[in-house]
Amino acid sequence: MQILDGKTTSEEIKIELKEAVEQRKIAGKKTPHLVAVLVGNDGGSLTYVGAKVRACKEIGFNSTLMHLEDSISENELLDVVEKLNNDDEIDGFIVQLPLPKHIDEKKITLAINPMKDVDGFHPTNLGNMVLNLPGFLPATPAGMMEMLKRYNIETSGKHCVVIGRSHIVGSPMSILMARNTNPGNCTVTLAHSRTQDLKSLTLQADIIVSAIGLPGFLTADMVKDGAVVLDVGITRVADETKKNGYRITGDVDFESVAPKTSYITPVPGGVGPMTIVSLMMNTLRAMELNGK
Ligand code: NAD
Repeated sequence: MQILDGKTTSEEIKIELKEAVEQRKIAGKKTPHLVAVLVGNDGGSLTYVGAKVRACKEIGFNSTLMHLEDSISENELLDVVEKLNNDDEIDGFIVQLPLPKHIDEKKITLAINPMKDVDGFHPTNLGNMVLNLPGFLPATPAGMMEMLKRYNIETSGKHCVVIGRSHIVGSPMSILMARNTNPGNCTVTLAHSRTQDLKSLTLQADIIVSAIGLPGFLTADMVKDGAVVLDVGITRVADETKKNGYRITGDVDFESVAPKTSYITPVPGGVGPMTIVSLMMNTLRAMELNGK
């Protein structure tokens, strides 16, 4: 069994990105600028956005955190999006989800200029992904693809079972794994909450991607020997031994599953750090796509 070490891999990518930013400077090109829009004070979102802004600074990007009150109206947030769309200094931006209930996430996603949509959630970018055209891939699936690539994991002709069909992780991952690319070229099964006899499917899987959010859901009896397991789940589980009172737990029962696998991502330190660097890679890509 080998650990797919997202922490180390993401650090390597950060060094490459830092170098790319320096090269841009030498060539007299613009420094990439990413804006993260955060509405309200959701604990998880604050952590994620903070990590994204910090990572930007580490690699020499300009980054701005726009922290807005959760009382902001939908129209006011649409105005913020419009300003960012039209601001030439801003190369890419994200609106951290989830948004407060009174704001329609779909409306906000649709309002973002696809050329600055570094989260890759806009239908134009999702369409480009399906057609294998240039655009932005959603950060979490893109991070997992990058990890498979860097660890030289053979995916062609393999059976990949993706569990969870969210628009940001499961569904795009199923598309990326099925595309005629490397990594890719898998036969893909997309499982979800209505799937019957999931175990019979996962037992056939060479690669399992679990993106559900149920701690310890994937157990050893569901995994065949030698499978590759990517654990996307991030759930806070109460833990009195921890200073903050909780620990982060994945969807996979790591202790029992890991010995059966050929490769597995830990939680934390697996998919999470790769998601953050994917966003940076998308922002750098935004510069190229926008001819800057
Ligand atoms: P979500 O919460 O929107 O949806 C969960 C999905 O799981 C649904 O499609 C549902 O059909 C499926 N599901 C639920 N119960 C199931 C069951 N018993 N059997 C099979 N499928 C079932 O999903 P999401 O936003 O993709 O998030 C999933 C998890 O991944 C969460 O824990 C989230 O915090 C985490 N996440 C991690 C990262 C990262 O960078 N590591 C990024 C995004 C999300």
